[in-house]
Amino acid sequence: MLEFKDVVKKYNDNGKPAVQNMNLKVEKGEFVVFIGPSGCGKTTTMKMINRLQEPSEGKIFLNGKNVLDQDPVHLRRSIGYVIQQIGLIPHMTVGENISLVGSLLKWDKKRQQARAEELIKIVDLPESFLQRYPHELSGGQQQRIGVLRALAVDPPLILMDEPFGALDPITRDALQDEFKKLQKEMDKTIVFVTHDMDEAIKLADKIVIMNQGEIVQVGTPDDILRNP
Ligand code: ADP
Ligand code: ADP
Repeated sequence: MLEFKDVVKKYNDNGKPAVQNMNLKVEKGEFVVFIGPSGCGKTTTMKMINRLQEPSEGKIFLNGKNVLDQDPVHLRRSIGYVIQQIGLIPHMTVGENISLVGSLLKWDKKRQQARAEELIKIVDLPESFLQRYPHELSGGQQQRIGVLRALAVDPPLILMDEPFGALDPITRDALQDEFKKLQKEMDKTIVFVTHDMDEAIKLADKIVIMNQGEIVQVGTPDDILRNP
């Protein structure tokens, strides 16, 4: 589904690249977690997948096609993106926020609304929340909406960059459970970033450990636990 071939990212000519020697395959339906210390290149890797950054060298293939050769609108439609600072748009209702990508794609209003109603049930929030504004929701509720926004147009691939990082441990635990269930039911491919090994072990099919811009180990949670 997703393949990195000899990917390098340099933000400037001098100094160590943010990412280098990156070779990796992600299979369809796989839940892959990138883990590593702050500054090791995790976010840069995510951004190169959805073209918020371009590799300096090497290529990234999505469904066999170089992402740089794909129409950005198409690409955005096939990749959901969730970040820690979810950035719900404050003057838009929760429903409008969920429908953001749908409206960019010019889905008709009825379809957008039906989709938002369907999604909000999944995260156990009442339909009436669709009319609320983001500031009327708790942090955990906002984060759920951020996840739903990424799911709205049903992208086969979802990138999540420390999506639960800012939450208290209990809310984070609940959202991890919810999301793992969701991923299995919806058969999505997920690329997830964290610096928390417990989170990685709980969620991942495959863990990718990064350090200083390079992949240093790849394995299942069992492999990693047995061979740290
Ligand atoms: P992580 O997500 O693992 O914390 P990042 O991918 O954000 O790591 O950063 C990797 C390296 O690239 C860091 O040294 C960071 O300072 C640098 N970096 C990230 N974004 C930029 C940017 N836009 N311009 C210049 N350097 C950057
Ligand atoms: P920034 O990087 O300053 O947060 P962007 O313009 O990149 O702003 O993104 C605006 C919002 O759109 C963000 O909240 C982000 O989560 C979302 N977004 C960005 N790229 C994508 C994408 N490929 N698919 C879905 N949502 C996206």
